Amino acid sequence: MQLTLDDPVSAVPGVSSTVASRLRKHFGIRTVHDLLEHHPRKHHDAGEVLDLSEVAVGEPATLIGTITDWSIRRIPKGRRTLTIAVARVRQASGANFEATFFNQEWRRRQLPEGTVAAFSGKVERFRSALKVSNPDTQVLGRVRGGAGAGVPDDLSALEHQRLLPVYPAVADLPSFKIVPLVEHALDGLPPIPDWLPDAWLDELDLLTLDDALRQHHLPPDRETARAARRRLVFDELFALQLGLQWRRAHLEAGTVGLDNSPVDLGHGDEFLRTMPFEPTGAQQRAFAEIAEDLRSSRPMHRLLQGDVGSGKTVVAVWSLLNAVDHGRQAALMVPTEVLAEQHHRTLTELLAPLGVNVLDGLRIELLTGSSGVAHRRRVLGELLTGDVDIVVGTHALLEEGVRFADLGVVVIDEQHRFGVSQRVQLKEKAGDGDGREVLPDVLVMTATPIPRSLALTLYGDLDVTVLDELPPGREPIKTTLITPDQAPRRAGLYAFIRDEAKAGRRAYVVCPLVEEGEVEATNVTDHHAHLSTDVFPDLEVALVHGRMRPDAKESAMARFRSGEAQVLVSTTVIEVGVDVPEATVMVIEDAERFGISQLHQLRGRVGRGGGTSYCVLFAGWHGELTDDAKERLEAVAATTDGFVLAETDLGIRGAGQLFGKAQSGMPDLKVADLRRDEATIALARERARAVVAADPDLTDHPRMRAEVLRRYEGGLEAFAALQTG
Ligand code: ADP
Ligand code: MG
Repeated sequence: MQLTLDDPVSAVPGVSSTVASRLRKHFGIRTVHDLLEHHPRKHHDAGEVLDLSEVAVGEPATLIGTITDWSIRRIPKGRRTLTIAVARVRQASGANFEATFFNQEWRRRQLPEGTVAAFSGKVERFRSALKVSNPDTQVLGRVRGGAGAGVPDDLSALEHQRLLPVYPAVADLPSFKIVPLVEHALDGLPPIPDWLPDAWLDELDLLTLDDALRQHHLPPDRETARAARRRLVFDELFALQLGLQWRRAHLEAGTVGLDNSPVDLGHGDEFLRTMPFEPTGAQQRAFAEIAEDLRSSRPMHRLLQGDVGSGKTVVAVWSLLNAVDHGRQAALMVPTEVLAEQHHRTLTELLAPLGVNVLDGLRIELLTGSSGVAHRRRVLGELLTGDVDIVVGTHALLEEGVRFADLGVVVIDEQHRFGVSQRVQLKEKAGDGDGREVLPDVLVMTATPIPRSLALTLYGDLDVTVLDELPPGREPIKTTLITPDQAPRRAGLYAFIRDEAKAGRRAYVVCPLVEEGEVEATNVTDHHAHLSTDVFPDLEVALVHGRMRPDAKESAMARFRSGEAQVLVSTTVIEVGVDVPEATVMVIEDAERFGISQLHQLRGRVGRGGGTSYCVLFAGWHGELTDDAKERLEAVAATTDGFVLAETDLGIRGAGQLFGKAQSGMPDLKVADLRRDEATIALARERARAVVAADPDLTDHPRMRAEVLRRYEGGLEAFAALQTG
């Protein structure tokens, strides 16, 4: 019987309507093609050593072995008798486990001693022995001579010797039941056409798609399985990168960028000359890469990634000045009002040597939700006339229909999801030169270190610059974990904070809650009262949280900044970007309630001046510490390198959870693994860029075009636009 890839999965022999509906319900499998893309997670082979440690207790698994003997136990239960048939199974490694069957004595006849089988089920540990209860059982063969002949280490006498694929499975559709379905599908299919050019297969040493699919499911040996996987990983990553690049090209079609190239002896130059320090090597690389974008007629869309304290602000300011040097305007947008105010102040200071808000100087304005009506009206008017050079505000600046005379450069801080399509919204605001749609140059900044592999996947359509070097002279922050069994250390810490305060330094104390709440954890309101009256009656203790009025927040921040208050109790509102160089101590209460990256961000608030800074994590004071939490906190204590922490986080939680698939547009990768396949991501990206650069709408690459649409149809919001647009 001939099948095609587009046939419904029910066309595959063995797929009943019940099975078809389970395939759809659990795995979204509708077509034969979908079934073939239900890839095995791994392969077991009959000779494989399956170590106890390799089996996750409580997880479904498939174990292979030879039944060595049976025992039957009968347990009276009321008027009935429960029969437990226990098969002892020995694996080629010599490890033993038990397969137990409840009220199925007939299994003993079905699976006599000497039977080699795969047992699928939930693995449990029972007094150091592994046990699988009521497993689904697939007979693989029999050892000649029965168990009495002993179990040979070499199981080559088996009838079906091969690698057994282990599929993502559920209770009513275990892996071994999926195996024959895939086998039948592959048998029924003519050779599967390839979508990559032959030349690529040679160049990149890839199997054909037909070979790869067949051999990934049912490989003759491990090496072939690996080669097959490589091809499928490339396909997955290349299709994704191609889709991202294609979409960017599509959205940029009919638009043109601005020439904001650096001007000799302009404000940009002058800023670099008057800056109080030498740029780091990483900052210099960033200037060069951004200069390249500013020169290009293609609008810039670059992500600037740099750990806290890596000096992104300087890069942002320089980028903005290039717009001003072309007589245009620039906007700096940040997530909160506190930050907008801080950035406005920083810019005013950094640019003071160039003259700010003086005759013939730069005009810099702040615009936030709490700007007064008169101020707001004036600034809006002056943006429209072009009198303002640089405006600093919250992200809302974009949404509120603010009009610019000629917007040249936009820098957006901490809005990861400012994607390609949002940027397109800027085009009306940019005014329109000669009937063409003009896009300003956009730089997106993030202080959340993301493993490079993930950045390239998540932001595949952006260009990425990484500030991977901290300015010189930074001392690593000393981080300590304090659990309740070390309670006396709390008093020691408070004495230390007092000493620091007396020496002109300051401390943050971060708590998870604003007020006493549903969960048991420290809240800022009570903790502030406690610290200010019981612990530090001799110091000024300020309070900041998200539910305060903006002016109250700002005045508390100002008191802390000026040193009038030496301790600041706050929620995570101070997480991003707040910069008080004199702050040397960061205390985090109930630290187990925060994730790795959040802890890292919070810790980044200290260590910004000279001297040693400290971070103290209180954990386990309100409830038990889980192993996961311990692992996170220990990782944070062990290193201050944000990229190392991000890799750890990726390892503990996986990409999907790190970014919350649905909201982030994080693609659902079926075969590729961001940690294993980093090199392939880069390769796929390069190839995709080259294809789209030469053929922006993929008109000359119909098979690639069709493959991208097939994979992402209706899935990624990203690609949906392609079909309508
Ligand atoms: P980020 O925004 O990346 O967290 P900032 O731009 O706030 O970092 O910079 C952190 C601190 O380092 C600031 O106080 C800034 O003045 C300082 N800084 C930035 N670049 C340099 C440099 N090249 N050399 C010395 N100090 C620098
Ligand atoms: Mg910053």
